[in-house]
Amino acid sequence: MKPFEPGRRILMGPGPSDVPERVRKAMSIPLVSHLDPAFRGLMADVVKALRELFGTENEFTFPVSASGTAGMETCFANLLEPGDTAVIGVAGVFGARMAEMARRLSAKVVVVEGEWGGIVDPARMAEVIEAEQPKLAAVVHGETSTGVLQPIPEISAAAREAGALFILDCVTSLGGCPVLIDEWGVDAAYSGTQKCLSCPPGLSPVTFSERAVEVVRSRKTGVGTFNLDLLALAEYWVGGGAYHHTAPVSLIFALWESLRMVFEEGLEARFKRHRRVQEMLLAGLDRLLLTPAADADHRLPMLTSIRIPEGADDAGVRDFLLTEHQIEIGFGLGPLAGRIWRVGTMGASATELHVAQFLAAMGQALQ
Ligand SMILES: *Cc1c(COP(=O)(O)O)cnc(C)c1O
Repeated sequence: MKPFEPGRRILMGPGPSDVPERVRKAMSIPLVSHLDPAFRGLMADVVKALRELFGTENEFTFPVSASGTAGMETCFANLLEPGDTAVIGVAGVFGARMAEMARRLSAKVVVVEGEWGGIVDPARMAEVIEAEQPKLAAVVHGETSTGVLQPIPEISAAAREAGALFILDCVTSLGGCPVLIDEWGVDAAYSGTQKCLSCPPGLSPVTFSERAVEVVRSRKTGVGTFNLDLLALAEYWVGGGAYHHTAPVSLIFALWESLRMVFEEGLEARFKRHRRVQEMLLAGLDRLLLTPAADADHRLPMLTSIRIPEGADDAGVRDFLLTEHQIEIGFGLGPLAGRIWRVGTMGASATELHVAQFLAAMGQALQ
C-alpha cells in the first residue's frame, strides 16, 4: 500500500477548483471536537461570514455537512410535503436534478423548460407560477452544465406575488458574482464550497428566510430525512448547539480560511476578477477560432462552455490537456455530451496565469 501521490493538477473544470495553500494548511490545524467551546466560536464566525456572502440577514444560514446536492435536498425535503406543487425551471442538469428530487418527495412537479444552453424564460416562468399557485418555485442561478447565468428578479417577484416560496441554486455563482438573497426575495438557497469559494468539496452553505422556516415549522407531516432535518441542523448551528451529527471539523477550518480570503479580497474585486479573467479567456478562444456555446447576454462568468469544433476529438483533447499539461476541463452532459467542453475559472482558478496556460495547451491540443 503506497501513499497516494497524484501530482499537481490545474483544476479548470466545473468544480472542484484549485485550493489555495492557506486553505489546505487550515485543514491540518490540530483537530478539536465538534462540541468544543473554541469550535463553537468558529461556527458563529462562519455563520456571520456566510450571511454577508449570501447578502442576507437570515438567522438560518450555515453549512450542511455534505456536497452541494445535499444542500439542494435540504431545501426540497424540508419545504415540500407529499402532494405540494413545485414549479421548477429546467435548462440543464441541475434544474433537472431539482425536479427529480421534488418528484421523489411525492410533490406535483411542473417543469418550465428552457433550451440547454439558454435561460429559462422569466416571463414564461412567471406565467406558470401565476397559473399553478405552487407551494414553491425554483431555478438554478448559474447552470454549470451549460455555462448560463439565469436572471432572477422577475421570477422571484412572481413567486412572491403568488405567495410561493422561491428556491435558488447558487452552487456555482456564490463568491464569483453577485448573489443577493434578501434583495431578490429568495426564501431558500444552497451552494457548495468547491466552486468559487475554492475550498475542498464536502460542505454546502444554505440559507432559509423566516418565511421558509415558518413553513417548515408548520408542516403537517414530519420531515422524512434525519440527516438533513433543517430544524435539528439549525439547533446545532445557530441554536443551543445540541449534538445532531459530528460536523466535518477540518473542512470547516478550511471554509473559514477561504471565507477570510474572500473578504480580504472584497466581494466587488472578486466579481470583477472573475469577469476580467473570462474576458481574457474569450479573447483567447477567438484567436484559436473556438466559439463559446452560451449566448453573450447570459454567459456565466466562472464557467465558459465551448463548442467542440468539427473534426476535433472531444475525449482526446481532454486527455491531452490532463496528461501533457495537468489541466482538467469538463465535458458536456446530457444533450450537450460530445458537443461542448466546459472551462471553469472559479475562485483560485480564476487567474490570468490559469487562462494563459490553458490557451497554450489548447492550441497544442488542437494542432
Ligand atoms: C456542482 C453543482 C451542484 C452539485 O454539487 P455537488 O457538490 O456536486 O453535489 C448543484 N448545482 C450546481 C449549479 C452545480 O454547479
